[in-house]
Amino acid sequence: MTDSPHIPARRQPWPDNAARPVATPLQPSVVYATLDPDALDAQYEGRTRGYAYAREGHPNADVLAATIDRMEGAEGGVVTGSGMAAVGVAMLAALKAGNHVVGGDQLYGRSLRMLTEDLPRLGISTTFADATDTGAIAAALRPETRMILIETVSNPTLRVADLDGIARLARDRGILLAVDNTFTTPRALRPFEHGADIVIHSVTKLLAGHADATLGYVAARDPALTEAMRTATATWGTTPSPFDCWLAERGLLSFELRYDRAEATATRLADHLATLPGVARVLYPGRADHPDHNRAGALLQGRFGNMLSFELQGGRAAANAFTRACPVAFAPTLGDIATTLSHPASSSHRALTPQARAGLGISEGFFRVSVGVEPAETLLAEFEAGVRAAG
Ligand SMILES: *Cc1c(COP(=O)(O)O)cnc(C)c1O
Repeated sequence: MTDSPHIPARRQPWPDNAARPVATPLQPSVVYATLDPDALDAQYEGRTRGYAYAREGHPNADVLAATIDRMEGAEGGVVTGSGMAAVGVAMLAALKAGNHVVGGDQLYGRSLRMLTEDLPRLGISTTFADATDTGAIAAALRPETRMILIETVSNPTLRVADLDGIARLARDRGILLAVDNTFTTPRALRPFEHGADIVIHSVTKLLAGHADATLGYVAARDPALTEAMRTATATWGTTPSPFDCWLAERGLLSFELRYDRAEATATRLADHLATLPGVARVLYPGRADHPDHNRAGALLQGRFGNMLSFELQGGRAAANAFTRACPVAFAPTLGDIATTLSHPASSSHRALTPQARAGLGISEGFFRVSVGVEPAETLLAEFEAGVRAAG
């Protein structure tokens, strides 16, 4: 045979290798070839283990899911193409028309939108209530309430939910408790140990940790619900990309180091900001002046996290001067290895009226900081320079 000038349509076989790779291989294959129809039957009937089509599952998603399962004390969790896909899969798997959902009134913006606009369109009614107050959540329940969705630490005022009280209420009333654990992470809190039925993550944030992979994770205590979530992912197509899973798994290898370092720096930065003229207030659950400090101490066992917020005097003009003078990236995300700064009034909370924002304590001078792993001294000096320029 002469050399073909064409690109060969048959792939070369993977080289034999008697040794195993130390790093997780990246497997982008969409389909898997089987020997014959009997072998495929055996696979689909669970007598052998194998993959068939990547939307129904692939090795990089399973390796990542098993890693997060171990961290959360979960079994059979499902990785999805984004954090919102994880919220959506939890809803699709657990709810049906006629059900009612109670959400915390400071949920992540897109989750608020899903509960406000999308679930009602599907015949699922929703109510919001203050998750720091179990009585307010109890008052929002109806006979047809099927789920309560809360975040342990809220964005951007970092209020701490009464998780234990709400978990008791949910158990007494036979209602599913879903906890979005993105801000707290299993380093600070494992919601299943506090009675949650469903745990949700935006893996995009602290877990993957490098602002280069968009992913989510959802797990349930009840194996039947877990199976329904796996089916919902395959049916609605919220499957993650193998490459993103591979990146996230690599990011997780350094998660605890990143978290501990960022948390230590956040504590110092919060205390430093509070001493600067021009800073009206600082919100960090680790500080004694935070409204939920005592609850955070008990619930998070001293793991107060990498997120803090502060308010500059001088409104929008001071905010503009601050972001121009402070070298920290002004970018609406969190959990990156580098520190990022967000301004809720112009991003996550821009759809709210100024009055509604004021009700949440979000002024034009309000910033949220996701602290990264930079040297603390550098970061403190950069923030100080920004605050001086703003004042
Ligand atoms: C970012 C975020 C989400 C959504 O995650 P994506 O990966 O951006 O889809 C959900 N909940 C919380 C608390 C978040 O911070």
